[in-house]
Amino acid sequence: MSKEISKERKITYYIGMGLIVIGFLLFISNFVTFIMNFGNFSSTGFSSIVGGFARAFIGMIMMIAGGITMAIGSQGLAGSGVILDPKRARRDRAPFSKMYGGMVKDGLDGAGININNIAEKIGGNSTKQTATTEIIKIKCRACSALNNEKDNFCSSCGQKL
Ligand SMILES: [Zn+2]
Repeated sequence: MSKEISKERKITYYIGMGLIVIGFLLFISNFVTFIMNFGNFSSTGFSSIVGGFARAFIGMIMMIAGGITMAIGSQGLAGSGVILDPKRARRDRAPFSKMYGGMVKDGLDGAGININNIAEKIGGNSTKQTATTEIIKIKCRACSALNNEKDNFCSSCGQKL
C-alpha cells in the first residue's frame, strides 16, 4: 500500500485546478466584455453580451467541474464520495490522515507530550498498539470471572487459578 498520492491523482488534481482557472477567466471575461460594451446597444454589442453570458455560464460549469476534479484528485474516487467504498475511501485518504496525524504528533512533541503514552492509556485502535497491549485473560473455574494471565488467585472469589 502506497503512502503517497498516485501520479494519476496528482495529475487529476492539477487538471481540476486548471479547469477552475480557465473557468474563472471565462467568467470574469464576461464582465470585461459587458463593461466595454456598456451603452452600446447596437446588434454587435448585444450579441457580445449574450455571448458573454454563455461564456460566464460555461466558465461557472468549468469551475464547478474543476472543483469536483480537484476533490477527486486529492481525496481519490472513493475518498471524495464518487464511489461508495469505505475501505477504499480510507486507503484514498491515508496519505492525508497520516499527514494530519504526523502534524498533530509534531505539535504534541513540541509541547512535550508523548502521543504513544496517551495512545496506550486510551487503548489505541491501531493494530500495532493492540498487538503489544493485548492481555490474555484466564477464566476462573469457580466463578467464571476473567483474571489476568499472571494472576495466581481469582480477583473475584480468591480461588487458586
Ligand atoms: Zn473466581
